[in-house]
Amino acid sequence: MGILKASSPPPSSNIGVVMSLKIYLDGKLVDREQATVSVFDHGLLYGDGVFEGIRAYNGVVFKLSEHLDRLYESAYTLMLEIPLKKDELEKAVIETLKANALKDAYIRLVVTRGTGDLGLDPRKCKKATLFIIADKIALYPKDYYEKGLKIATVPTIRNHPEALNPQLKTLNYLNNILAKIEATNAGVDEALLLNAQGYVTECTGENIFYVKGGRLVTPPPYVGILKGITRETVMHLAREAGLQVAEEVFTRHDLYTAEEVFLTGTAAEIVPVVKIDNRTIGDGKPGKKTFSLIEAFRRITDKEGTKYSL
Ligand code: PMP
Repeated sequence: MGILKASSPPPSSNIGVVMSLKIYLDGKLVDREQATVSVFDHGLLYGDGVFEGIRAYNGVVFKLSEHLDRLYESAYTLMLEIPLKKDELEKAVIETLKANALKDAYIRLVVTRGTGDLGLDPRKCKKATLFIIADKIALYPKDYYEKGLKIATVPTIRNHPEALNPQLKTLNYLNNILAKIEATNAGVDEALLLNAQGYVTECTGENIFYVKGGRLVTPPPYVGILKGITRETVMHLAREAGLQVAEEVFTRHDLYTAEEVFLTGTAAEIVPVVKIDNRTIGDGKPGKKTFSLIEAFRRITDKEGTKYSL
């Protein structure tokens, strides 16, 4: 009722009409109400699939090529065949943005193993399911950037790299979700996850950095993290700004005694952290270096990526 059918002709004018979001699903753009997958899809039954979270800024899809490379790499290790080639997938992302007239957007690109039976054997899934959602970005509260976050170490450790390697961006996010629940229960904004050896890894959906003595430090991928696209970008911007950048294994002690701490991720961009496990970081306010990296980052978001016009 009141739903625009995929077969309905488009309204002649958008004024006063709430357009249904168009979702790219297996080669077609469909209305959100028609964008459904089977209950036998192994993405749903087993979390068997991969995904990317991408952003568009003013008609530029930020680092689209890098996001797609990561998607194909995650899929390769899982022996999951993505039904489109990289250039076709790039076109599909742009097509979805255009169909929704979005210059600024959050894009969720998902590839599941596809429909199979109730067993987990992926050989039963004959074709991957691929969908792309492009929607307005729900920005984080301004306070997060101005006042900084309070985070805490949680009991759940990050997945061991020889179990489900955190470098794979898969649909199985329960490790992160458990950590998020624990952070919420502890009354903080975000969870800090350690690995099995007690070294700092990352947060539930962001990488972590600290600044001390003119050095910017972040954990190396082998401790068990996702190699964030924002992380790579920030390391590059920091080097350009004359900071020494290191990928090092470290403990919570290094964070507690740092001058500045911040998190990075596609949705959050760069967010300062001012308290960790009740220890105040620096003077308890977002740091100067963090702010200048935020500024440098915001200068390039609509420059480094794939341009499109509506
Ligand atoms: N770590 C995890 C676990 C993530 O899910 C993400 C992405 N949301 C990140 C780090 C940040 O990666 P990116 O900068 O590529 O968004």
